[in-house]
Amino acid sequence: MPRTRYRARWLAPIASPPLEDGWVDVDGGVIRAVGAAADAGSDAADREVDLGSVCVLPGLVNAHTHLELSTQRSAVPPARSMPAWAAALMRNLQEEPPGAAPAAIVAAVAELHRAGTALVGDVTNTLASLAALEAGPVEAVVFHELLGFDVAGAAAAAAAERLDRLASERRDERVRVCPAAHAPYSVSPALFRMLAAVPGPRSVHLAESREECEFLRAGTGAWREILDARGRWDPEWRPPGSGPVAYLDALGWLREDSLLVHGVQMRPDEIRRVARSGATIVTCPRSNAWTGAGVPPVAAFYAAGASVAVGTDSLASAPDLNTFAELAEVRRLAPEVPARRILRSGTLAGAAALGRGRTHGAIEPSRCAALIAVETPAAVTDVEEYLLTGIEPEQIAWLDGADAGRGAPAGS
Ligand SMILES: [Zn+2]
Repeated sequence: MPRTRYRARWLAPIASPPLEDGWVDVDGGVIRAVGAAADAGSDAADREVDLGSVCVLPGLVNAHTHLELSTQRSAVPPARSMPAWAAALMRNLQEEPPGAAPAAIVAAVAELHRAGTALVGDVTNTLASLAALEAGPVEAVVFHELLGFDVAGAAAAAAAERLDRLASERRDERVRVCPAAHAPYSVSPALFRMLAAVPGPRSVHLAESREECEFLRAGTGAWREILDARGRWDPEWRPPGSGPVAYLDALGWLREDSLLVHGVQMRPDEIRRVARSGATIVTCPRSNAWTGAGVPPVAAFYAAGASVAVGTDSLASAPDLNTFAELAEVRRLAPEVPARRILRSGTLAGAAALGRGRTHGAIEPSRCAALIAVETPAAVTDVEEYLLTGIEPEQIAWLDGADAGRGAPAGS
Protein backbone atom coordinates (compact mmCIF):
# COMPACT_ATOMS: atom_id res chain seq x y z
CA MET A 1 0.00 0.00 0.00
CA PRO A 2 1.43 3.44 -0.91
CA ARG A 3 1.87 5.60 2.15
CA THR A 4 0.83 9.25 1.89
CA ARG A 5 2.10 12.00 4.16
CA TYR A 6 -0.36 14.90 4.48
CA ARG A 7 1.16 18.15 5.68
CA ALA A 8 -1.08 20.88 7.04
CA ARG A 9 -0.80 24.24 8.77
CA TRP A 10 -2.66 22.63 11.67
CA LEU A 11 -3.51 19.17 12.94
CA ALA A 12 -6.16 18.76 15.65
CA PRO A 13 -5.68 15.21 16.96
CA ILE A 14 -8.45 15.76 19.62
CA ALA A 15 -6.84 13.32 22.07
CA SER A 16 -3.84 15.68 22.38
CA PRO A 17 -3.10 19.39 21.78
CA PRO A 18 -3.02 20.78 18.21
CA LEU A 19 0.15 20.46 16.15
CA GLU A 20 1.32 23.47 14.17
CA ASP A 21 2.79 22.53 10.78
CA GLY A 22 1.74 18.95 11.45
CA TRP A 23 1.71 15.85 9.31
CA VAL A 24 -0.12 12.56 9.30
CA ASP A 25 0.87 9.39 7.42
CA VAL A 26 -1.98 7.32 6.00
CA ASP A 27 -2.12 4.06 4.11
CA GLY A 28 -4.84 1.51 3.47
CA GLY A 29 -7.38 3.75 5.19
CA VAL A 30 -5.39 3.61 8.44
CA ILE A 31 -3.38 6.30 10.26
CA ARG A 32 0.26 5.11 10.54
CA ALA A 33 2.07 8.05 12.15
CA VAL A 34 1.51 11.62 13.31
CA GLY A 35 4.00 14.41 13.97
CA ALA A 36 4.96 18.07 13.85
CA ALA A 37 7.37 19.75 11.45
CA ALA A 38 10.50 19.24 13.51
CA ASP A 39 9.81 15.53 13.86
CA ALA A 40 10.60 13.80 10.57
CA GLY A 41 9.16 10.42 11.56
CA SER A 42 11.02 7.15 11.06
CA ASP A 43 9.45 5.80 7.88
CA ALA A 44 9.51 7.72 4.64
CA ALA A 45 6.20 8.18 2.86
CA ASP A 46 5.74 7.25 -0.81
CA ARG A 47 4.18 10.59 -1.59
CA GLU A 48 3.62 13.90 0.14
CA VAL A 49 0.62 16.19 -0.14
CA ASP A 50 0.87 19.70 1.27
CA LEU A 51 -2.67 20.75 2.10
CA GLY A 52 -1.69 24.33 2.94
CA SER A 53 -3.69 26.55 5.28
CA VAL A 54 -6.09 23.95 6.64
CA CYS A 55 -6.70 22.12 9.88
CA VAL A 56 -6.83 18.33 9.60
CA LEU A 57 -9.06 16.64 12.14
CA PRO A 58 -10.98 13.38 12.44
CA GLY A 59 -14.28 13.15 10.59
CA LEU A 60 -17.07 14.24 12.92
CA VAL A 61 -19.58 12.09 14.78
CA ASN A 62 -23.24 13.14 14.62
CA ALA A 63 -24.66 11.02 17.45
CA HIS A 64 -28.36 11.69 16.89
CA THR A 65 -30.35 12.01 13.69
CA HIS A 66 -33.57 10.61 12.23
CA LEU A 67 -32.75 10.37 8.51
CA GLU A 68 -36.20 8.89 7.78
CA LEU A 69 -37.70 12.31 8.63
CA SER A 70 -35.66 14.12 5.98
CA THR A 71 -38.74 15.06 3.94
CA GLN A 72 -39.85 17.18 6.92
CA ARG A 73 -37.17 19.89 6.55
CA SER A 74 -38.82 23.18 7.58
CA ALA A 75 -42.22 21.44 7.46
CA VAL A 76 -42.96 21.64 11.20
CA PRO A 77 -42.70 25.23 12.46
CA PRO A 78 -40.90 26.03 15.72
CA ALA A 79 -43.21 25.63 18.73
CA ARG A 80 -43.40 26.79 22.32
CA SER A 81 -44.16 23.35 23.69
CA MET A 82 -42.43 20.15 22.64
CA PRO A 83 -45.59 17.93 22.79
CA ALA A 84 -47.38 20.47 20.56
CA TRP A 85 -44.47 20.33 18.11
CA ALA A 86 -44.47 16.51 18.19
CA ALA A 87 -48.25 16.43 17.58
CA ALA A 88 -47.76 18.63 14.49
CA LEU A 89 -45.01 16.29 13.26
CA MET A 90 -47.27 13.25 13.79
CA ARG A 91 -50.02 14.93 11.72
CA ASN A 92 -47.54 15.51 8.89
CA LEU A 93 -46.36 11.91 9.07
CA GLN A 94 -49.90 10.65 8.53
CA GLU A 95 -49.77 12.37 5.13
CA GLU A 96 -46.21 11.29 4.39
CA PRO A 97 -45.05 8.29 6.48
CA PRO A 98 -41.42 8.28 7.70
CA GLY A 99 -39.02 6.77 5.22
CA ALA A 100 -41.52 6.83 2.35
CA ALA A 101 -39.13 8.91 0.18
CA PRO A 102 -35.82 7.02 -0.14
CA ALA A 103 -34.30 9.80 -2.30
CA ALA A 104 -34.60 12.24 0.62
CA ILE A 105 -32.62 9.82 2.82
CA VAL A 106 -29.92 9.37 0.16
CA ALA A 107 -29.65 13.18 -0.09
CA ALA A 108 -29.42 13.46 3.70
CA VAL A 109 -26.55 10.95 3.81
CA ALA A 110 -24.74 13.02 1.16
CA GLU A 111 -25.38 16.14 3.26
CA LEU A 112 -23.88 14.41 6.32
CA HIS A 113 -20.78 13.54 4.29
CA ARG A 114 -20.36 17.07 2.92
CA ALA A 115 -20.55 18.36 6.49
CA GLY A 116 -17.55 16.21 7.42
CA THR A 117 -19.44 13.39 9.17
CA ALA A 118 -17.56 10.07 9.44
CA LEU A 119 -20.01 8.32 11.76
CA VAL A 120 -23.69 8.83 12.54
CA GLY A 121 -26.08 7.50 15.18
CA ASP A 122 -29.38 7.32 13.29
CA VAL A 123 -32.71 6.53 14.95
CA THR A 124 -35.30 4.79 12.81
CA ASN A 125 -38.71 3.21 13.30
CA THR A 126 -38.87 1.87 9.76
CA LEU A 127 -35.23 0.85 9.06
CA ALA A 128 -35.63 2.94 5.89
CA SER A 129 -32.20 4.54 6.40
CA LEU A 130 -30.34 1.20 6.31
CA ALA A 131 -30.05 0.90 2.52
CA ALA A 132 -28.86 4.49 2.01
CA LEU A 133 -26.28 4.18 4.80
CA GLU A 134 -24.99 0.84 3.50
CA ALA A 135 -24.52 2.32 0.03
CA GLY A 136 -23.03 5.62 1.22
CA PRO A 137 -19.75 6.90 2.66
CA VAL A 138 -20.86 7.47 6.29
CA GLU A 139 -20.46 4.71 8.89
CA ALA A 140 -23.46 4.27 11.16
CA VAL A 141 -25.09 2.82 14.19
CA VAL A 142 -28.74 2.50 13.18
CA PHE A 143 -30.87 2.57 16.32
CA HIS A 144 -34.03 0.60 15.61
CA GLU A 145 -36.49 2.47 17.76
CA LEU A 146 -39.42 0.71 19.38
CA LEU A 147 -42.52 2.45 20.74
CA GLY A 148 -45.56 1.31 22.67
CA PHE A 149 -46.68 2.52 26.06
CA ASP A 150 -49.17 -0.33 26.22
CA VAL A 151 -46.80 -3.11 25.06
CA ALA A 152 -46.43 -5.55 27.94
CA GLY A 153 -45.38 -9.09 28.79
CA ALA A 154 -44.96 -11.51 25.89
CA ALA A 155 -45.41 -8.80 23.25
CA ALA A 156 -42.53 -6.76 24.70
CA ALA A 157 -40.31 -9.84 24.90
CA ALA A 158 -41.12 -10.79 21.31
CA ALA A 159 -40.39 -7.27 20.00
CA ALA A 160 -37.02 -7.13 21.77
CA GLU A 161 -36.18 -10.63 20.55
CA ARG A 162 -36.92 -9.69 16.93
CA LEU A 163 -34.66 -6.67 17.23
CA ASP A 164 -31.89 -8.71 18.86
CA ARG A 165 -32.05 -11.25 16.02
CA LEU A 166 -31.94 -8.52 13.37
CA ALA A 167 -28.92 -6.93 15.07
CA SER A 168 -26.96 -10.13 15.60
CA GLU A 169 -27.56 -11.58 12.11
CA ARG A 170 -26.09 -8.54 10.37
CA ARG A 171 -22.53 -8.80 9.09
CA ASP A 172 -21.87 -5.23 7.90
CA GLU A 173 -19.57 -3.75 10.55
CA ARG A 174 -19.81 -0.28 8.92
CA VAL A 175 -23.55 -0.11 9.56
CA ARG A 176 -24.66 -1.83 12.75
CA VAL A 177 -28.20 -2.15 14.10
CA CYS A 178 -28.74 -1.45 17.80
CA PRO A 179 -31.76 -0.96 20.10
CA ALA A 180 -33.56 2.27 20.94
CA ALA A 181 -36.56 3.12 23.06
CA HIS A 182 -38.38 6.30 22.04
CA ALA A 183 -39.00 7.94 25.46
CA PRO A 184 -40.42 7.29 28.95
CA TYR A 185 -43.90 8.55 27.93
CA SER A 186 -44.11 6.35 24.84
CA VAL A 187 -42.46 3.06 25.86
CA SER A 188 -43.77 0.66 28.51
CA PRO A 189 -41.58 -0.37 31.47
CA ALA A 190 -41.69 -3.96 30.18
CA LEU A 191 -40.37 -2.92 26.76
CA PHE A 192 -37.61 -0.81 28.36
CA ARG A 193 -36.51 -3.79 30.47
CA MET A 194 -36.50 -6.18 27.51
CA LEU A 195 -34.49 -3.73 25.38
CA ALA A 196 -31.96 -3.32 28.20
CA ALA A 197 -31.04 -6.98 27.64
CA VAL A 198 -30.25 -6.45 23.92
CA PRO A 199 -26.52 -5.70 23.34
CA GLY A 200 -25.81 -1.96 23.12
CA PRO A 201 -25.11 0.76 22.47
CA ARG A 202 -28.73 1.78 23.09
CA SER A 203 -30.43 5.12 22.71
CA VAL A 204 -33.38 6.90 24.34
CA HIS A 205 -34.82 10.43 24.31
CA LEU A 206 -34.67 11.52 27.95
CA ALA A 207 -35.56 14.57 30.02
CA GLU A 208 -36.42 16.47 26.84
CA SER A 209 -39.62 18.33 27.78
CA ARG A 210 -41.10 19.77 30.97
CA GLU A 211 -44.20 17.71 30.16
CA GLU A 212 -42.13 14.48 30.36
CA CYS A 213 -41.17 15.40 33.95
CA GLU A 214 -44.81 16.10 34.79
CA PHE A 215 -45.85 12.77 33.26
CA LEU A 216 -43.38 10.82 35.43
CA ARG A 217 -44.19 12.85 38.53
CA ALA A 218 -47.97 12.74 38.34
CA GLY A 219 -49.10 10.78 35.25
CA THR A 220 -50.80 13.90 33.88
CA GLY A 221 -50.21 16.58 31.24
CA ALA A 222 -49.81 16.80 27.49
CA TRP A 223 -48.14 13.41 27.01
CA ARG A 224 -50.92 11.68 28.96
CA GLU A 225 -53.47 13.46 26.76
CA ILE A 226 -51.68 12.32 23.59
CA LEU A 227 -51.61 8.70 24.86
CA ASP A 228 -55.33 8.89 25.67
CA ALA A 229 -56.14 10.38 22.25
CA ARG A 230 -54.19 7.63 20.48
CA GLY A 231 -55.69 4.87 22.64
CA ARG A 232 -52.27 3.84 23.99
CA TRP A 233 -52.66 4.74 27.69
CA ASP A 234 -52.11 1.84 30.10
CA PRO A 235 -54.50 2.11 33.09
CA GLU A 236 -52.23 -0.24 35.09
CA TRP A 237 -49.25 2.14 34.89
CA ARG A 238 -48.46 4.20 37.99
CA PRO A 239 -46.23 7.27 37.75
CA PRO A 240 -42.97 6.61 39.60
CA GLY A 241 -43.04 10.09 41.16
CA SER A 242 -39.36 10.46 40.28
CA GLY A 243 -37.36 12.32 37.66
CA PRO A 244 -36.47 10.76 34.28
CA VAL A 245 -32.95 9.71 35.31
CA ALA A 246 -34.08 7.72 38.37
CA TYR A 247 -36.88 6.17 36.29
CA LEU A 248 -34.42 5.02 33.64
CA ASP A 249 -32.03 3.69 36.30
CA ALA A 250 -34.82 1.55 37.76
CA LEU A 251 -35.40 0.08 34.27
CA GLY A 252 -31.75 -0.96 33.86
CA TRP A 253 -30.84 1.70 31.29
CA LEU A 254 -28.44 3.93 33.24
CA ARG A 255 -25.19 2.38 32.08
CA GLU A 256 -22.03 3.05 30.15
CA ASP A 257 -23.33 1.97 26.75
CA SER A 258 -26.51 4.08 26.86
CA LEU A 259 -27.04 7.32 24.93
CA LEU A 260 -29.41 9.68 26.75
CA VAL A 261 -30.54 12.14 24.12
CA HIS A 262 -31.38 15.77 25.09
CA GLY A 263 -31.27 15.99 28.95
CA VAL A 264 -32.75 19.51 28.71
CA GLN A 265 -34.68 19.08 31.98
CA MET A 266 -31.95 17.32 33.98
CA ARG A 267 -31.37 18.80 37.44
CA PRO A 268 -27.81 19.05 38.84
CA ASP A 269 -28.20 15.89 40.96
CA GLU A 270 -29.51 13.99 37.93
CA ILE A 271 -26.57 15.15 35.80
CA ARG A 272 -24.14 13.95 38.49
CA ARG A 273 -25.93 10.60 38.59
CA VAL A 274 -25.59 10.24 34.81
CA ALA A 275 -21.90 11.21 35.02
CA ARG A 276 -21.26 8.52 37.66
CA SER A 277 -22.99 5.90 35.51
CA GLY A 278 -20.74 6.53 32.50
CA ALA A 279 -23.76 6.96 30.18
CA THR A 280 -23.41 9.59 27.44
CA ILE A 281 -25.64 12.65 27.21
CA VAL A 282 -26.26 13.55 23.56
CA THR A 283 -27.06 17.24 23.34
CA CYS A 284 -28.96 18.73 20.37
CA PRO A 285 -29.43 22.38 21.42
CA ARG A 286 -30.65 23.71 18.05
CA SER A 287 -33.41 21.10 17.98
CA ASN A 288 -34.36 21.87 21.60
CA ALA A 289 -34.82 25.53 20.71
CA TRP A 290 -36.89 24.64 17.63
CA THR A 291 -39.26 22.18 19.34
CA GLY A 292 -39.81 24.36 22.40
CA ALA A 293 -38.13 21.88 24.75
CA GLY A 294 -35.92 24.66 26.15
CA VAL A 295 -32.22 25.32 26.63
CA PRO A 296 -30.11 22.32 27.68
CA PRO A 297 -27.79 22.89 30.72
CA VAL A 298 -24.75 22.19 28.56
CA ALA A 299 -22.18 23.84 30.85
CA ALA A 300 -23.48 21.73 33.76
CA PHE A 301 -23.07 18.54 31.69
CA TYR A 302 -19.38 19.31 31.26
CA ALA A 303 -18.88 20.60 34.82
CA ALA A 304 -20.23 17.30 36.21
CA GLY A 305 -17.68 15.38 34.14
CA ALA A 306 -20.36 13.62 32.10
CA SER A 307 -19.58 12.13 28.72
CA VAL A 308 -21.17 14.60 26.27
CA ALA A 309 -21.79 13.88 22.57
CA VAL A 310 -23.67 16.06 20.08
CA GLY A 311 -26.32 15.42 17.46
CA THR A 312 -28.13 17.63 15.01
CA ASP A 313 -31.39 15.70 15.43
CA SER A 314 -33.58 15.38 12.33
CA LEU A 315 -34.24 17.90 9.57
CA ALA A 316 -37.74 18.26 11.07
CA SER A 317 -36.22 20.26 13.96
CA ALA A 318 -32.81 21.41 12.69
CA PRO A 319 -31.95 23.53 9.63
CA ASP A 320 -29.16 21.18 8.50
CA LEU A 321 -27.18 18.06 9.43
CA ASN A 322 -23.95 19.98 10.10
CA THR A 323 -22.33 18.91 13.39
CA PHE A 324 -19.98 21.92 13.19
CA ALA A 325 -23.06 24.17 13.45
CA GLU A 326 -24.25 22.20 16.48
CA LEU A 327 -20.80 22.53 18.08
CA ALA A 328 -20.93 26.30 17.54
CA GLU A 329 -24.22 26.38 19.46
CA VAL A 330 -22.68 24.29 22.27
CA ARG A 331 -19.82 26.80 22.42
CA ARG A 332 -22.32 29.67 22.67
CA LEU A 333 -24.13 27.95 25.57
CA ALA A 334 -20.92 26.94 27.38
CA PRO A 335 -18.39 29.75 26.86
CA GLU A 336 -16.17 28.61 29.75
CA VAL A 337 -15.63 25.04 28.60
CA PRO A 338 -12.23 24.41 26.93
CA ALA A 339 -12.56 24.18 23.16
CA ARG A 340 -10.96 20.73 23.02
CA ARG A 341 -13.64 19.27 25.32
CA ILE A 342 -16.37 20.58 23.05
CA LEU A 343 -14.60 19.29 19.94
CA ARG A 344 -14.28 15.94 21.70
CA SER A 345 -18.09 15.86 21.94
CA GLY A 346 -18.30 16.02 18.13
CA THR A 347 -15.60 13.38 17.66
CA LEU A 348 -14.15 11.01 20.27
CA ALA A 349 -17.00 11.13 22.83
CA GLY A 350 -19.57 10.44 20.12
CA ALA A 351 -17.44 7.64 18.68
CA ALA A 352 -17.05 6.03 22.11
CA ALA A 353 -20.79 6.27 22.77
CA LEU A 354 -21.44 4.51 19.44
CA GLY A 355 -18.96 1.74 20.26
CA ARG A 356 -16.24 3.06 17.91
CA GLY A 357 -14.02 4.74 20.51
CA ARG A 358 -10.94 2.74 19.53
CA THR A 359 -11.13 3.38 15.79
CA HIS A 360 -12.77 6.79 15.29
CA GLY A 361 -12.74 10.29 16.71
CA ALA A 362 -9.01 11.04 17.06
CA ILE A 363 -5.82 11.23 15.00
CA GLU A 364 -3.58 8.50 16.41
CA PRO A 365 -1.64 5.63 14.82
CA SER A 366 -3.79 2.57 13.99
CA ARG A 367 -7.06 4.52 13.96
CA CYS A 368 -9.29 4.81 10.91
CA ALA A 369 -8.06 7.51 8.51
CA ALA A 370 -11.47 9.13 7.94
CA LEU A 371 -9.96 12.61 8.13
CA ILE A 372 -11.17 16.02 7.00
CA ALA A 373 -9.33 19.24 6.17
CA VAL A 374 -11.00 22.50 7.16
CA GLU A 375 -9.87 25.72 5.43
CA THR A 376 -8.32 27.91 8.10
CA PRO A 377 -7.38 31.60 7.70
CA ALA A 378 -3.67 32.27 8.15
CA ALA A 379 -4.36 34.66 11.05
CA VAL A 380 -5.90 31.93 13.25
CA THR A 381 -3.82 31.21 16.36
CA ASP A 382 -6.28 29.08 18.39
CA VAL A 383 -7.39 26.51 15.85
CA GLU A 384 -9.58 24.50 18.23
CA GLU A 385 -11.57 27.63 19.06
CA TYR A 386 -11.77 28.44 15.35
CA LEU A 387 -13.37 25.04 14.67
CA LEU A 388 -16.24 26.05 17.00
CA THR A 389 -17.16 29.17 15.04
CA GLY A 390 -19.60 27.41 12.69
CA ILE A 391 -17.65 25.72 9.89
CA GLU A 392 -19.60 25.43 6.64
CA PRO A 393 -19.50 22.43 4.25
CA GLU A 394 -17.77 24.59 1.59
CA GLN A 395 -14.73 24.82 3.91
CA ILE A 396 -14.45 21.03 4.31
CA ALA A 397 -12.60 18.52 2.15
CA TRP A 398 -12.05 14.82 2.78
CA LEU A 399 -8.48 13.55 2.60
CA ASP A 400 -8.51 11.21 -0.39
CA GLY A 401 -6.48 8.54 1.42
CA ALA A 402 -9.20 8.62 4.03
CA ASP A 403 -11.80 7.51 1.53
CA ALA A 404 -9.62 4.82 -0.08
CA GLY A 405 -11.40 1.51 0.11
CA ARG A 406 -14.45 3.05 1.80
CA GLY A 407 -16.56 3.23 -1.33
CA ALA A 408 -16.77 7.02 -1.44
CA PRO A 409 -16.61 8.76 -4.79
CA ALA A 410 -13.31 10.59 -5.31
CA GLY A 411 -13.50 14.28 -4.59
CA SER A 412 -16.87 14.03 -2.88
ZN1 LIG B 1 -34.59 12.37 18.28
